[in-house]
Amino acid sequence: SHYFDANATTPLCPEARAAWLEATDQHWHNPSSPSRASARVHVLLENARAELAALFGATAESVVFNSGATEGNRDVLAYWRRISPESRVIVSAIEHPSVLENARANCVGGQLVILPVEKSGCVSMKSLVELLEKRGGGLVSLMAANNETGVIQPWQEAIEVCRQYRATLHIDATQWVGKEALEGLASADFVTACGHKFGGPKGTGFLLVSSGLSGFCGQRGGAQENDHRAGTENYPSIASMVAALQASEAQRVGVQADNGDARDRFEALLSKAISDLKIWGAGEARLSNTSSLCLPVGENTRWVRRLDQRGFLVSTGSACATGKDGPSHVLAAMGVTAEEARRTIRISALPSTNWEAWNSLAAALVELLPGMDGGDGNPLVIKL
Ligand code: PMP
Repeated sequence: SHYFDANATTPLCPEARAAWLEATDQHWHNPSSPSRASARVHVLLENARAELAALFGATAESVVFNSGATEGNRDVLAYWRRISPESRVIVSAIEHPSVLENARANCVGGQLVILPVEKSGCVSMKSLVELLEKRGGGLVSLMAANNETGVIQPWQEAIEVCRQYRATLHIDATQWVGKEALEGLASADFVTACGHKFGGPKGTGFLLVSSGLSGFCGQRGGAQENDHRAGTENYPSIASMVAALQASEAQRVGVQADNGDARDRFEALLSKAISDLKIWGAGEARLSNTSSLCLPVGENTRWVRRLDQRGFLVSTGSACATGKDGPSHVLAAMGVTAEEARRTIRISALPSTNWEAWNSLAAALVELLPGMDGGDGNPLVIKL
């Protein structure tokens, strides 16, 4: 089958698998124990930290390994509220629920400000500048690229603006890391990401914390992670994640070009074949692997089932929104109607996805289209 749900997760890449197996077989000791075997794991862990930091041009001290982006996002918002109880928190309307929900949980009254986005799916920098001009300061949380539309957000500009107005900036770079150049990201005060979006293991991620924020603590207990996050380090998964990022960095430029060409050809082909097709964020710079399509007929859940039966794994939007009522908050913020959102599917390719796969997906969409109007007479029964 053809996997087109890479923004939800990716399979372990060979480099990450090899690193995990080696570490789990040979370097499984607790890095904080006094034995020589443990001391070796401690050294390996610190090497992994330095290697990850080097990819970002950051210092090793700024890297906090954790369980993933949800944890990182939650901890940044909780930490900020602790050190600055009265200040404002500004987040965009299209952030991941792990930012939005934790921002809501940590703010009272008018402390939380939700930034609007343009119709294109890009956060309004004009609104951010206006807000900061009026009242300055606070925490700004902005994603580097959106998980549903792939639209790249103006985070470089946000770094400048936040510096100018003395605001603290958190970038949720979960969908960016492994797909786009890492340069410049570490200039933000906080950066979150996780391994499983770029060929690394699930349940493993990292947070970059700038040096001015040394009191950061995500989880209390032992002194692991330089007192920033207690708990025995998961060295095998950390080694695996770092190997995955090194591997994806080594091939990123070529992958970006190939993915982008194939995605653009796919969209051009479909736009010709299907009248009234809409592509969200099409006019903006997007992640080269992502396409958010609004089809003229058919519920997205039905499209997903039909395509799955033909061997194409796509998504209705974000996996994190599955089980929640209502259409995507991302599309709603862009002014997409609930009805259009229900006809929208998200396609997100892996680095290895080739043109043949995109082309056959386009053919399947065109073939299925005539049968998509009306009720679903043949619900898929999943046998466990
Ligand atoms: N932020 C963004 C932008 C994401 O796309 C995701 C994953 N869907 C997360 C945070 C959360 O990552 P995880 O589920 O690994 O904690």
